[in-house]
Amino acid sequence: MQRLSTCPYCGVGCGIRSEGQTDLQISGDSGHPANFGRLCVKGSALAQTLGEQGRLLAPKVDGQTVSWPEAIDAVSSRLSAIIAEHGPASVAMYLSGQLLTEDYYVANKLMKGFIGSPHVDTNSRLCMASTVAGHKRAFGADIVPGCYADIELARCYILVGANMAWNHPVLFQRIQACKQQDPGRTIIVIDPRRSASCEGADLHLALKPGTDLLLFNGLLSFIAAEQQLDQNFINAHTEGFSEALLSAQQQAGTIEQVAMGCDLPPAQVDAFYRCFVDEPLTLTLFSQGVNQAQNGTDKVNAIINCHLATGRIGKAGCGPFSLTGQPNAMGGREVGGLANQLAAHMDYSQNADIELVRQFWQAPNICRQPGYKAVDLFEAVERGEIKAIWIMATNPLVSMPEANRVKAALEACPLVIVSDIVTHTDTIACADIVLPATGWSEKDGTVTNSERRISRQRTLLPAPGLARHDWQMICDVAKAMGFAEHFTYAGPAAIFAEHAALSAYQNTGQRAFDLSGLMHLTAQQYQDLAPVQWPVNHKYPKGASRLGADGQFYTPSGKARFIAVSQQQSAELARDHLLLNTGRVRDQWHSMTRTGRAASLLQHRAEPFLELHPLDAQQFGLTDGGLARLSNSLGQMDARVRLTEAQRSGECFVPIHWTDQFSSKGRCDVLVPALVDPVSGQPALKQAQVQIQPL
Ligand code: SF4
Repeated sequence: MQRLSTCPYCGVGCGIRSEGQTDLQISGDSGHPANFGRLCVKGSALAQTLGEQGRLLAPKVDGQTVSWPEAIDAVSSRLSAIIAEHGPASVAMYLSGQLLTEDYYVANKLMKGFIGSPHVDTNSRLCMASTVAGHKRAFGADIVPGCYADIELARCYILVGANMAWNHPVLFQRIQACKQQDPGRTIIVIDPRRSASCEGADLHLALKPGTDLLLFNGLLSFIAAEQQLDQNFINAHTEGFSEALLSAQQQAGTIEQVAMGCDLPPAQVDAFYRCFVDEPLTLTLFSQGVNQAQNGTDKVNAIINCHLATGRIGKAGCGPFSLTGQPNAMGGREVGGLANQLAAHMDYSQNADIELVRQFWQAPNICRQPGYKAVDLFEAVERGEIKAIWIMATNPLVSMPEANRVKAALEACPLVIVSDIVTHTDTIACADIVLPATGWSEKDGTVTNSERRISRQRTLLPAPGLARHDWQMICDVAKAMGFAEHFTYAGPAAIFAEHAALSAYQNTGQRAFDLSGLMHLTAQQYQDLAPVQWPVNHKYPKGASRLGADGQFYTPSGKARFIAVSQQQSAELARDHLLLNTGRVRDQWHSMTRTGRAASLLQHRAEPFLELHPLDAQQFGLTDGGLARLSNSLGQMDARVRLTEAQRSGECFVPIHWTDQFSSKGRCDVLVPALVDPVSGQPALKQAQVQIQPL
């Protein structure tokens, strides 16, 4: 029997086809518009990651295995006791882009509407928050204007801070196929490292880290100087152009000045700028190299500014395109999983929105102020202000900056509840209550990928042991806390219908996120739901490939906004230090909970490694293949040395995946300071400085 579902890893959101009842054979779904049958090496190895070995099969309270009623009673009674003594804002949730939209929806509803704590944030804060903020500033809503089909229509691809070959492999394959078909197409990579995405690229700009804002301000200035502005579009559909251009011109100066600031040859900068202005069908694809910075939101807007200036928004084959990291980073944004959002893309800035959500949920304790974003959230735990935290489907002891501080904070926190699929993670080691969750292939619900496409993840295997769906355990806790009337759902279809109805509630077109066309799905229609791009409403009954094509945006004026941005990343490199870049490797996913189970995926990179330039290795007395210790005032990490000229001298790279479960001293985020973008709250995960010594 063949069944369709969606890959649980990256934001490409590939469709998969599963055959077999128990031993699943996984292949790509040729009918899914994200991948048309392709899968990358991680997706192809999914069947190897299944099985009960290492799975968490029963709830545990204070180290003792208990029944579900006992576990739910422990969670609800301990949360209620803390709320009674310290108020609702003393409890928090930390969610994950691995959760399905239905899980996310009820978690957010319980905390922000019924318990009355705004402190719900998600690991998507580490991933996409700067893009969310940039979209909202430019478009008035968190919309992705384009779609994957633009890849086949584009003729120039600019990859900024995105190693797509490893991190969004199937989309990269689509770009490569286009290039193969027509070598006249251009691929430009903007990245301090010569990553795998540079293979076959026409131009690689190995710029100094943190100077991409300067580079794109220089581009805006160049577009104006070359008289390549789309003045009609600017006049009719945008505001703030003059201020943004002036700011860009003042910062950038000449091409030579930009080149000097970015540490690039002027000819390369000139070539990039000319490609951009000469090719209307240009897609700018960006990811964590842009987002994970103290000026991440400004960098996003600097890119969008260049597309607005040339009128290349919402049109076929062009536009700025944010590549999301996680399978459901977008779905989490849709339900309000970020602490500064409320629900259905509504936030706390409008009293009318708060009232609308309160009415819809019939919420007794609706929150009226934003909660703590991830870094602030764990600092509140550290201060003792947050006394209970429920962490779902994520491992912040590995992924948060200053991870050792997070560890100490959680160890001292009076109540830590963790829902996960495996018995051992660094975070579970700090938990008082551990709840066994279903994982991919057992879960049932929806996810939204980078192009706003909602796809179904379907149940392919039964839940092992006593594992339960996240939405079920959240609803059980809600019922035990006295909110049964509002948390009784027949299944994920009913939750999705409510989520869709909220998006449509009193929505006269002023809110971009609108699923009114999906709010009356029957359970069978939900089961059969084909991948569709939101909005799905009266205007777009079959979903919308592109948004903004009509020049209409979601700001009060209906115009897109240029944002004047000129704040460079600061921080001089300290003497005898290297600048540390962090990122993914091709065959692993996050903290390896799933990919670490597949032997074939460990062959590519079997242990934590440190890539650095031979000149730096010489200075620190390191040899290729030897062991090194990276350290700073925050912590230490050990890694195998890999010498490469793909790395700029003065900088180095380590992978994010290894945890203390897999490798002692393998966690790189113990070295990363908790600096954040002030607009988005996203941590600057690529700005640590380290000293290195041989081991
Ligand atoms: Fe899965 Fe991403 Fe690979 Fe597609 S590209 S198969 S979504 S990991």
